[in-house]
Order: sequence, then C-alpha cells, then structure tokens
Amino acid sequence: IASHLIACLFTELNRNQVQKVDQYLYHMRLSDETLLDISKRFRKEMEKGLGATTHPTASVKMLPTFVRSTPDGTEHGEFLALDLGGTNFRVLWVKVTDNGLQKVEMENQIYAIPEDIMRGSGTQLFDHIAECLANFMDKLQIKDKKLPLGFTFSFPCHQTKLDESFLVSWTKGFKSSGVEGKDIVALIREAIRRRGDFDIDIVAVVNDTVGTMMTCGYDDQNCEIGLIVGTGSNACYMEEMRHIDMVEGDEGRMCVNMEWGAFGDDGALNDIRTEFDQEIDMGSLNPGKQLFEKMISGMYMGELVRLILVKMAKEELLFQGKLSPGLLTTGSFETKDVSDIEEEKDGIQRTRQVLLRLGLDPLQEDCVATRRVCQIVSTRSASLCAATLVAVLRRLKENKGEDRLRSTIGVDGSVYKKHPHFAKHLHKAVRRLVPDCDVRFLRSEDGSGKGAAMVTAVAYRLADQHRA
Ligand code: BGC
Ligand code: MG
Repeated sequence: IASHLIACLFTELNRNQVQKVDQYLYHMRLSDETLLDISKRFRKEMEKGLGATTHPTASVKMLPTFVRSTPDGTEHGEFLALDLGGTNFRVLWVKVTDNGLQKVEMENQIYAIPEDIMRGSGTQLFDHIAECLANFMDKLQIKDKKLPLGFTFSFPCHQTKLDESFLVSWTKGFKSSGVEGKDIVALIREAIRRRGDFDIDIVAVVNDTVGTMMTCGYDDQNCEIGLIVGTGSNACYMEEMRHIDMVEGDEGRMCVNMEWGAFGDDGALNDIRTEFDQEIDMGSLNPGKQLFEKMISGMYMGELVRLILVKMAKEELLFQGKLSPGLLTTGSFETKDVSDIEEEKDGIQRTRQVLLRLGLDPLQEDCVATRRVCQIVSTRSASLCAATLVAVLRRLKENKGEDRLRSTIGVDGSVYKKHPHFAKHLHKAVRRLVPDCDVRFLRSEDGSGKGAAMVTAVAYRLADQHRA
C-alpha cells in the first residue's frame, strides 16, 4: 500500500508539473482553429509571391526553379554534385544507369566549412568550395574529365534559368560578404578558373527541397511536394505555369521554391510569436528575417527551449530558482538534446543527464517540467509545418479540380528524421486539417545530394531529346 501511495503521489506531482508548464507556455500550444487560420494566411502569402504586382513586396517569395519534370527513369550518366547549406557540406559523385530499374551509384565526402569562412568573404568561401572539389576529384582520379555538376544550394535564390541563380539573402549560419545579389554559378566558375587545375560543366542549381522532391519522385510519380525540416525549413511544390507570373508561358507545371521560412517577416505571425521567438530573432545573424523558420527549424529549437528554461528558473519555477553558467550559455542546449529528452524510453533519466551537463542539480520535478517544455516546442514546430503544408495541399487540390487529392510529399531534414515524435505529429496534424486529401509522406534518401544529380540528369535527358 505504501509503495502504491508513493507511486500515486509521484504521478500527481508529475501531473502538476506538466500543468504548470502547459499554463506557462499557453501561447505556444496552438489549437486546430488557430492552425487553420495560419494556413489561410499562408495561402494568401503564396498568392502574393506568385503575382506579378505583389511579388516585389511579398515576404514568401515563391521562386521559380526552372525544374519542369521529375525523373522518368531513362536518365543516365556520370555526375558531380555539391551540397551546401544543410548540416554538412559535401561533394558527391553520382552514376545513374538506366538498365531496367534505375540504379544509382554514389561516392561522397563531407568537408568542413570553418565558421570564419562561413562568415568571411565570398571569394574565400568559393575558393574553399573549389578546393574541396579539387581534392575530391583527385581522390577519385577524375580530374581530367569535364563532368556535369549539379549544385544543391539551400538558400533563397532568384533563378532565371537552371544554371543562373542569384542569391537573395543568406539564411541559417551563413553570412559571407559580397555574395547576396550575385549569380552563384558565376562565382563558382570564377573560383575554378582561378585555380586552373580542373574544369567542370555546371548544369543546374537546385534548392534542397527540390532535390528532395526529385529523388522521391523517382519512386512515386505522385510526388509533387518537397519538404525540409532540418537546420532550416522550407518546401517546394509543382505549380501550374499559368499561375507563375514571373515566368513566361502557360503550359504545364514548374516547381516553385516557396521559401516559407520567411513567412511572417512582414508581421503576419506577430500574434503568435512569443517573447522567446523575439529573443531568438534578435540574437540571430539575420534579425527580422526568416521568422517562421526560427519558430520551427533545428537551428533554433534547442535554443528556444533554453531561453524558456532560463526565464522559468529566474521566476523560480524551475531548479529552485538557480541558474548555471552552462544554462546561461547561448547554444548550450541543442536540438539533438530535445530529441534525446523526448525519447519514449528513459526520458526522465536522459533529461537529468542533459541538465547535469549544464551544471544544474535537477530534482525529479525539474526533469518532468523540462521534458514538457521540449514537447511543447517541438509539437508547435510540427503543427506550424502542418499548417503551411495544408495550404499547399489545398492549392494543389484546387489546381487539379479533384474531389479528393492524392499527393506525396518527399521529406528530408534532421528534425524530421531524428526527432522521435516530430514526423508522427506532423502527419497526424496534416491529416486532421485536410481530411479530403490522401497524403503520403516519403522519406527522401539523401535528397540534397542525389537530388542535384537527378536534376542534372533530367536536364541532360531533355537536352538529348532536343538534339534528337
Ligand atoms: C533556406 C531554404 C532551404 C531551407 C532548408 C532555409 O534557410 O532559405 O532555401 O531550403 O533552409 O535547408
Ligand atoms: Mg541537406
């Protein structure tokens, strides 16, 4: 009986802690009603970005990608790819063969980009990229070949064709000077020319969302949306050409890189942004920009949790009012800590370990509360992604004029793939908010790496057909 009583007391205590946090973070727990409202707002932003007269001032840019078709399985050839803007910078060699079932062979190498290069001059950055490319080609002994290259460049770019791409603005951890407004294909070509020890044929610049859609499109012809929830967040989808004012022509479809991370940059989300969101923004490399991204993506999730814990501790709601230098250090609480803490098994024990690492001396109730903070922050992220995705699904459904939409979403990114509950929350919320769509989520296998090669391969196939 005694142990039963203790267990009951424990559960009761835990429940109180959870309630305390739920009340404290009331503003971060979004109802379906609010999510549908946000979805509607996003839908308006999409239209603004697509329209000729509204585009210049739109915060969601809806950038044309010049990708018009997904792979059909007949692509083949040997390609190089670069992947910049995700968790790692990589160089890849991809060989696509079309003997029956398409086969992809791949070699890839991760290279570090030191922080001083990420935030130094553009020349430094592109020289470094060219050097990594040279090193990789040396290793594979392919320096004498002039291979076609696809560049996954995961930043907002104003594209005028597949191989001309002007950086709109840096996002995430990058802030390299003299690159914004420039054509990054020209910059990489110049860097290669400066070296003079190899040559390549840059065929395509691709956003990671597009690469993700392309790799999934190979397995599922219904794949018409690409989604990334990783360091940053963004999505692309296939829009009707007649709705894309920025590009001439009304026939067929083109993939649009929405750059949804910038949703809210004009104030559209001010009512749901909290003081923590404001603090994250003010301390970032790009204040006032990418406000939606800062509420959801992996670069900021851990830090959001940390800011909440600090404030709660200061108000003596946690850690008996004690703070530690660790807890007070920017970046000390990582998004992978959030994933770890929310793990079903041993969650409280894992929480204790993270808090101990930060130099705190947590009680059971502190661990319970911290875990709840993580749940609320990651659930809000998934819910917000669902809200914007729902707007895209509705749009596709209207474009096609179907009663029921069947659509596949190709997804990649560390938050989506590594957080223990994020994907499940996202799927559930989407299905709840658009009951009239059959949505399939497909995890991309290295979309940003293979994807760039795929786009390049498709471009080659289409060029072949033109020649024929
Ligand atoms: C960039 C997007 C990218 C996303 C995911 C954002 O910060 O602006 O271009 O797709 O991150 O990597
Ligand atoms: Mg990536």
